[in-house]
Amino acid sequence: MTIAYPKGRGFVIAWGFYTLVLKDTEISEQEDAADGLTEDEKFYLEELMSNECQCGNGKKPRFSFCYRCYLQLPQTMKNSLYDHVGEGYEESYDAAVEYLNT
Ligand SMILES: [Zn+2]
Repeated sequence: MTIAYPKGRGFVIAWGFYTLVLKDTEISEQEDAADGLTEDEKFYLEELMSNECQCGNGKKPRFSFCYRCYLQLPQTMKNSLYDHVGEGYEESYDAAVEYLNT
């Protein structure tokens, strides 16, 4: 007999993990400011984990853009979106948004 997992289970786990990380960050921020996320970095993380693309279409959490937007990006920009928040992702995301809207 096979057990059918409900669809979206992976998302729930990912979201749970994400909020856990954020909560943990908030607590540790005062103790160790260097390791905590800045307000800016939280914005980019939330953007990354949201299910709405900057164009208004739906997208998958953990993906920067919907498939349509992503396909329009040059390969170098696609690659740079794999940077981590706090390690260049912000600049890469901004550059990609600008590219898509010009
Ligand atoms: Zn899009």
